[in-house]
Amino acid sequence: MVHESVQRAVSPQQLSIPPRNGIRAIGHLKRGAKFRLLGTGPERIAKDGRGVVNERNWPGTHRFAASGIHRPRTIDDLRRLVAKAEKIHAVGARHSFNGVADSPGALVDLAGLPPRCEIDAARRTVTVDAGACYGRVAAELQARGWALHNMASLPQVTVIGAVATGTHGSGDGNGTLSSAVAGLEVVTAAGDLVTMRRGDAGFDGMVVGLGAFGIVTAVTLDIRPSFLVRQDAFAGLPWSAALTDLGRIMAAAYSVSIMTKWSGPTLGRLWLKTLVVDGMPEAVSYPGAHPAPTVGERADEAVFRRTVFGTVGPWSERLPHCIPDEEPGHPDQIQSEYMLPRGQAMKALALLRDMGTRIDPHLRVTEIRSMAADALWLSPAYGHDAVALHFTWLKEPEPVAKLTAEIEEMLLPLGARPHWGKLMHASAAQLAPLYPRLAAFRELSTAWDPAGKFRNDFLDRHVFG
Ligand SMILES: Cc1cc2nc3c(=O)[nH]c(=O)nc-3n(C[C@H](O)[C@H](O)[C@H](O)COP(=O)(O)OP(=O)(O)OC[C@H]3O[C@@H](n4cnc5c(N)ncnc54)[C@H](O)[C@@H]3O)c2cc1C
Repeated sequence: MVHESVQRAVSPQQLSIPPRNGIRAIGHLKRGAKFRLLGTGPERIAKDGRGVVNERNWPGTHRFAASGIHRPRTIDDLRRLVAKAEKIHAVGARHSFNGVADSPGALVDLAGLPPRCEIDAARRTVTVDAGACYGRVAAELQARGWALHNMASLPQVTVIGAVATGTHGSGDGNGTLSSAVAGLEVVTAAGDLVTMRRGDAGFDGMVVGLGAFGIVTAVTLDIRPSFLVRQDAFAGLPWSAALTDLGRIMAAAYSVSIMTKWSGPTLGRLWLKTLVVDGMPEAVSYPGAHPAPTVGERADEAVFRRTVFGTVGPWSERLPHCIPDEEPGHPDQIQSEYMLPRGQAMKALALLRDMGTRIDPHLRVTEIRSMAADALWLSPAYGHDAVALHFTWLKEPEPVAKLTAEIEEMLLPLGARPHWGKLMHASAAQLAPLYPRLAAFRELSTAWDPAGKFRNDFLDRHVFG
């Protein structure tokens, strides 16, 4: 652990990108709109609470309980703020579907800190400000000939918000986005600025950190040379193929997504994102399915219609499903997701298919993806390769709460881990058997935050119990 007593100053001249290029703001239309701007000091937290009580997450499913929000402009301001605060928690782009980013005290949003995008070509890493969104980082890396290994569907989420909840894309050989984290700069409960690197004791516990260790100010990510991807959509694949041979489907390309409903004879769409090597895509075909030029009748189709199929493009434009400068679909939605050990995935599909006619009336779409194992304690893929079963629900809180509770009860015994950033029900006691390092996570985060400054209701309920 390296304690830095003096924060490195980053002047705009050192930055290779314009401050806040606008990508981040779009997609966060609620961001700041109803919050009163509180500045950088605790003394400026709203006393009347005006506006604060109206702040919600992007889909509007969680109303923040925090008393106010700080937007520090320098790391030193942030350090002072954290040192003085009794209760504080970092918030990213507010795209989580639960209270994981909330606080019983104040929130802190790092959007006002100077942007960073420092590429270390020798180490093959990039260090970005924690408030950066993936869209900005991907565009900058691509412009300079570099790439991330993978992207989530949505480029509007912040890097730290995504990695703190174990966010993932797809691909049998691709780890979660969190697995690419090589370093973190963190403001601790005492206000110290600490750098942690992969290999340091406890680092594997801190990456999928749920905001419990402190306020992360910068994230270092593994990078690789830029690469090209071709994306193709197929339709007509029978459901029986997924129920009997899911492994073969998920292995069909660098990144595979099945977009489907649960009843009916065929899967909705199979999206294959194929690597282009030496100028030629790998063979793009799928037996039993025919090419689908469009993505079908979907309420949020407008966004996906902009996803390009059938042509080769840079990784930064083909790996995410949504495009960075558009609102990411209709916020009238609720999401839940379960990550299963790969060997249990077909059993889970069969159980869910039996519920298909009850699920579908409330569902926009399910997406099935895969990811490679990692060693991050609270990662959805900790210790084993995983298959992710995602649900984008209609915004019908009551039936969705009932259905997701039933689904969760059914899938937990198969080893399903709920997504930390989506609707979930399981208590800490129910989650403990699923995460062999949960007790270690509790100990480590308590050592970093003995007074529970960063604790919130979500952590109390789902992690500490
Ligand atoms: C339309 C949509 C599509 C999505 N697609 C995917 C997908 O493809 N794959 C997937 O896995 N998930 C997906 N998600 C879920 C999403 O990636 C997660 O909810 C993610 O956490 C959102 O990031 P955020 O920037 O909004 O963070 P927030 O929701 O604001 O915060 C999430 C967590 O990060 C912590 N955090 C934020 N900033 C800091 C900081 N500076 N220091 C310490 N901790 C911090 C917060 O405390 C909180 O614990 C999607 C969500 C939506 C709305």
